[in-house]
Amino acid sequence: MQRDVYKAKTHFLERLRHQPGKIVNLCFVIVLIFSTILTWREVVVLEDAYISSQQNHLKNVASSLDRQLQFSIDKLLFFRHSMGDALQTPLGFRVLQDAVTKFNRLRNQPFWQLDVDQQRTLPISGVSDATVERTTLLARDGQRIGNELSAALEVGYLLRLATSTTGKERRVSYVSRAGFFLSTDPSPLDYTIVSRYYDLVTRPWFTQQNERQNRSRGVRWFMAPLSDDREERVITASLPVYQDHYWYGVLAMDFTLPTMKQLLTEAVDRRTDGEYQLYDSRLNLITTSEPPDGLVNQFDELERAQIAHAIESDTQGGIRLNSRYISWERLDHFDGVVLRVHTLQEGVNGDFGSISIALALLWALFTAMLLISWLVIRRMVSNMSSMQNSLQWQAWHDPLTRLNNRGALFGRAKTLAQECREQNIPFSVIQLDLDHFKSINDRFGHQAGDKVLCHTAGLIASALRSSDVAGRVGGEEFCVVLPGATIRQAAEVAERIRACINRKEILVRKSTTTRISASLGVSSTEENENSDFEQLQSIADARLYLAKQQGRNQVVWRDADKK
Ligand code: GH3
Ligand code: MG
Ligand code: MG
Repeated sequence: MQRDVYKAKTHFLERLRHQPGKIVNLCFVIVLIFSTILTWREVVVLEDAYISSQQNHLKNVASSLDRQLQFSIDKLLFFRHSMGDALQTPLGFRVLQDAVTKFNRLRNQPFWQLDVDQQRTLPISGVSDATVERTTLLARDGQRIGNELSAALEVGYLLRLATSTTGKERRVSYVSRAGFFLSTDPSPLDYTIVSRYYDLVTRPWFTQQNERQNRSRGVRWFMAPLSDDREERVITASLPVYQDHYWYGVLAMDFTLPTMKQLLTEAVDRRTDGEYQLYDSRLNLITTSEPPDGLVNQFDELERAQIAHAIESDTQGGIRLNSRYISWERLDHFDGVVLRVHTLQEGVNGDFGSISIALALLWALFTAMLLISWLVIRRMVSNMSSMQNSLQWQAWHDPLTRLNNRGALFGRAKTLAQECREQNIPFSVIQLDLDHFKSINDRFGHQAGDKVLCHTAGLIASALRSSDVAGRVGGEEFCVVLPGATIRQAAEVAERIRACINRKEILVRKSTTTRISASLGVSSTEENENSDFEQLQSIADARLYLAKQQGRNQVVWRDADKK
């Protein structure tokens, strides 16, 4: 088994040695494959670095935006906490008690307002008992309304204070289920109070804050639908107010879209590369970091679905959409997501783009050089091997007759004789000499003599089997070896050759033909099994000499006394 493997290996190496062109091809293909794999690996590493850099940029923007929103949310939570405290232990101030008394006087009027101290707190606007009773969502509980009103007035102080200094929130309001509201955006005392209260309590940010829809009682964000043309489009953060499992109402904070844009722009700061977009949880675009005259990246239905699907699975990540790379990050203090859109052109202009281009160019240059050197080396190798073949041919052949030369014939004949001895089959030799060849040269010239030699070689070669080997062993002497042929068969072949040579008229000069003849001697291992090629050849030569003596143009295959 091991020997077989070794043999197969040496055979393979031997074959390769004779096909240098294939080795060159193989080497170049290996170098090309490895250089391509290496370049590809670099590209993959570069892509990973690009993705993580995209993610980092976005993370910074998202956390900066989160920090800004956290400030507002903390305020909202603080208001609720204060409201809770005030509901638990109401202050016994006279103004508050007077306000409750005043409410009891006004509660049946279609609209009313408790205007305690315009300088310090916000006015409370409300509707009648009858309006409250009209819907089950609203309830005016006689036991709680007094406390709730004074708590609302207390929080009114805080709302006014906290929102007058910073201007991020468009409006902060407390809307009660008990038919009143107070807002940093006060209402005039007229019938609009009723419509405004009705408008507030029908908004999703109010209606969806009941116990069932917001079990955690945390902050929820709502964006007014696009069709809403009642007032400017706002984003509302709302928080339910509960005390002893009773739902009093909702604290709400409105942000306008320009404010959100300003927050996002501040968060983006100087990171001008790529566009940042803020979306709500339903993937409605809230705002973008692009200036009003900038080009906002749009997504078609399919792309939106792809983004929505990707966002669902993780709080952050990236996705490639054709030529754009989108990374996203969910915000902690906002019910939405920030997207970073990086186009191919921005990518190409950036650091990663130029490195990638340089890498691609290097690879192309390397491959081009590799191809050129492959072509040059291939040509050199093929020239060398054809030169080697021609030298080899010249070393083993006679250039005039194109038959084997003496050295080649002796070499091959010895091997064939050995093989026949091993296989125990006969091996025969024919020795041939042209008759009176000298006179051809003398009469027609040396060139005509050469022509006759070529002609004779052609005749000999055409009379042989493929296993027989013919060669020119002297000036006009030829030798043929016939492996496997008996002496009689060899003699027949010799006779055929003789007849053939003698039959043809040869054109030696313009309009001059001549006829030549040859004498042949034949020998075989049949006569003496142990004879080697050289012995056989000398026997055949002796018989050839005999043929000459006996008058030429004949075949002698036996010794004179046997004849
Ligand atoms: P025979 O063999 O019948 O006794 O007579 P011969 O004339 O053939 O005698 P010999 O074998 O002695 O002569 C060989 C001649 O062949 C001598 C030489 O001029 C000629 N010869 C040898 N080699 C070449 C060759 O390459 N070209 C030509 N044209 N003639 C050659
Ligand atoms: Mg001769
Ligand atoms: Mg001779």
